[in-house]
Amino acid sequence: MVNKQIKTTKSQEIFAAAKHLMPGGVSSPVRAFRSVGGQPIVFDHVRGAYLWDVDSNQYIDYVNTWGPAICGHANPEVITALHEALEKGTSFGAPCALENILAEMVIAAVPSIEMVRFVNSGTEACMAVLRLMRAFTKREKVIKFEGCYHGHADMFLVKAGSGVATLGLPDSPGVPKSVTSNTLIAPYNDLEAVELLFRENCNQIAGVILEPVVGNMGFISPKAGFLEGLRKLTQEYGALLVFDEVMTGFRVAYGGAQEKFGVIPDLTTLGKIIGGGLPVGAYGGRRDIMLMVAPAGPMYQAGTLSGNPLAMTAGIKTLELLQRSGTYEYLDKITKYLVDGLLLIAKETGHAVCGSQISGMFGIFFTPGPVHNYQDAQKADTNKFGYFHQEMLRQGIYLAPSQFEAGFTSLAHTEADIKKTLQAVRNVMSNLS
Ligand code: PLP
Repeated sequence: MVNKQIKTTKSQEIFAAAKHLMPGGVSSPVRAFRSVGGQPIVFDHVRGAYLWDVDSNQYIDYVNTWGPAICGHANPEVITALHEALEKGTSFGAPCALENILAEMVIAAVPSIEMVRFVNSGTEACMAVLRLMRAFTKREKVIKFEGCYHGHADMFLVKAGSGVATLGLPDSPGVPKSVTSNTLIAPYNDLEAVELLFRENCNQIAGVILEPVVGNMGFISPKAGFLEGLRKLTQEYGALLVFDEVMTGFRVAYGGAQEKFGVIPDLTTLGKIIGGGLPVGAYGGRRDIMLMVAPAGPMYQAGTLSGNPLAMTAGIKTLELLQRSGTYEYLDKITKYLVDGLLLIAKETGHAVCGSQISGMFGIFFTPGPVHNYQDAQKADTNKFGYFHQEMLRQGIYLAPSQFEAGFTSLAHTEADIKKTLQAVRNVMSNLS
């Protein structure tokens, strides 16, 4: 092994102290590196495609703060806009013209969205959209897919992805059975299973919610016809189709997966990129459905910091930057370079690895594949991935600390960064057993 030594003394000290202060030492589980081993790195500052830790080590970043930093960390134009907004105050708790601007941009970009409500996280967006699905259809059951993650609200913690998959947790204690008994589960990419659930629960299913491209059981694309099939089935059974585009919105295309695949859901959830690195979420969709939301209609949902002027500002500037020509072509080009290069090196060095990408979102699995659902993803060699992760870190490459999370590139990543990353992959894979 190339066992390049890097000094992480301060990271270790800070994390050791954090463990006494916060459960697992973190504010969100996957950050604790439980499934890959080794010590989490504590960061000091971030810029462009790079992260610097508290011991002054520099890393090329493929976590991208889990997706929002598509224009690069601390993008100077976003930071300048934020400085100006900050002078006007941090929160109004009242209508703010910036909400209109971001709402107009979101409505113009995302085909399914005619009206939008801003919230503070993807979890909140998904909780609210579920209530709305039920309020509109007057039905209680909902279909979700095994390994898809829609935040940490009770009714979605059934065979969930992301940290739940990473830690191999059973469905979380503390979630009442009465809440999850209305959450029906199907394998991703399996239309027949969905149709069977509809037939068995006729007139009881409010809708289907899914990640149209999955990032939370690793990166998995929908099979040809899967999204179209769901659109048809939901229409046939009088149910709603909801795309959770918290991760894929403005990521796999400016208008999200629905633009990319040409399938238009009834409702959509967003987060991450539309807050430009500040806490945000949103849900939106057909006007007749959105008009059920209070105070226009009876479905209650509210938030002290919702529509926060700083989050709106960072979101507006980020979307403006993404509108520049060539954005998605560039992201596609460098990410393809990365994934193709990595798969070639794996082949040359004798490792069974599969992987793919769409625009600046990608994933690899340590299994020959193909990977179409959670069961396939479970076949991946997580021990080997853990070792790969630790060694890549020593080479100055920061990958998501889990086999079951997608990776992200940004507009700040250069071909030179990718080349350096591929050299690191070669160094590590040549010595990986
Ligand atoms: N939905 C999807 C598809 C996500 O990827 C995530 C988070 O990664 C969420 C919902 C929850 O978003 P948040 O972490 O902002 O609550």
